[in-house]
Formats: sequence, C-alpha cells, structure tokens
Amino acid sequence: MSIESILPKPNIFEAKRVLCIQPHYDDNDIGAGGTLALLQQNGAELFYLTATDDLMGIVDHALSDEEAAQALRHDQFAAGEIVGVKEQFWLGYPDAGEYNYFALRRDFLKHIRMLRPDFILTVDPWLTYEAHHDHIQTGLAAAEAVMFAGLTKIPSSDPTVDTAYTPHDIKGIIFYHTREPNQILDISETWEAKLAAVRCYEAQFTSQEMNQLVMALDAKSQQVAAGESFPRGEALKVLHTSALHCGL
Ligand SMILES: [Zn+2]
Repeated sequence: MSIESILPKPNIFEAKRVLCIQPHYDDNDIGAGGTLALLQQNGAELFYLTATDDLMGIVDHALSDEEAAQALRHDQFAAGEIVGVKEQFWLGYPDAGEYNYFALRRDFLKHIRMLRPDFILTVDPWLTYEAHHDHIQTGLAAAEAVMFAGLTKIPSSDPTVDTAYTPHDIKGIIFYHTREPNQILDISETWEAKLAAVRCYEAQFTSQEMNQLVMALDAKSQQVAAGESFPRGEALKVLHTSALHCGL
C-alpha cells in the first residue's frame, strides 16, 4: 500500500474556506493570486491573515507610520476586491523585527479555530535560499498551527476562542514560493486578475520596481508551466495535514 493512498494529496478545488496566512500585505497575491482567484470563482471563501505591519518596505519615507499603514491597507483592499477576498485580519508584528515565534503561532491558532478553514495557504518556510525571517517564521508557525489546531491543550492567544472551539477537519495545507511543488495550477484564466491585484501595491513598489516584478512574475508563470498543456501556472506544494510531521 502506498503512502499516497493513505494520505492522498488533497483536492484544492474542494476548498470551501481558505485561510491565507502571509508575512506581508502582498505575499498571497504575488505568490498565489492566480490560484486564489480561481478557488474563489470555484466557490471558496478567502480570508487573509497578515502577520507583520509591513512598514519597512514603504516607498514614501515622508509618510508617518499611521499614514503608511493606511496606504498599505488601501492597496490591500483594492487587490482583495479583484481576487475576491471575503475578510482581512492583521496581527501587526514588526516587519523584519523582533517578535516571538510562539506568540505568532498562538495568533495563527486563534484564527484557525475561529474561522474553521478547510484549507490553509501560506509561504513555504523551507524554500531554498529564503532569507527573510518573516517568511520563515510565518510559514513554519502556520504549518505548526495547522498540525496543532485540534490539540486543544495547546492554547491560542484567545481563551474564549479556545473554549468555544470543537476540533474540525482541515483537509490540507497549500504552500506557495515552494522548492518542491507537487501541483502546477493552470492560472491562464486568472492571470490578468492576479496582475491587476499585484499592481495595486503601489505603496511598496516604485513604478520601476513594479515593472520588474511584473516581468519576473510573467516569466515565472510561463516557466513553471513548461511541459504543461497550459501557458501559465503557479507552483504549489499541497499536503495532507498528517504529512507535516516525520516525513510522511
Ligand atoms: Zn513578504
């Protein structure tokens, strides 16, 4: 009997509620905007949870932190309208700063128990040469929170959420920016929506940086689809939640 028959790769098109946990405001859309728009069109509700305040990448240094936060959220809501995001949540940990891993994990546990998603999408913390600590921490804490959601002796950051929570079925976890994809998703139909969403993030990219990003995404989407029957794809690692431990 094969491992795949015991822990089959979840079918992401069965997703009804997807909690998309990202380090910064734009990561979900840059890494998986085509996939998310497609899942939303397929009937899934999308919830975004952003770990950090994202204030370090702001282009206009004349803005106060409050003004910068407002600009970031403005961009994120505009992008969310295009992708079809139902609700946004923010944790406000300091971008590229010092914060506690276990506090982050407790906050992720809270949102998983509160929102009861059947899929979680996040950055792959094991991406080769990923140097950004926010990405490594966020991906790892999200994966651990998925694994521990049903273990109610492990507290979240909100005791009232924990008290009300009864364990639910999480079908799978989807990683983007991944080293070892096991699914190349055809995003040809949602490519334009993804681009339009990414272009909303004006507070974080100069026009020159944005053009470079768009060119890179353009090339990447075609590169990952090489050998497939469609022109553009996003590379994903889709795992059964029991595959998050001991190499199963
Ligand atoms: Zn990021």
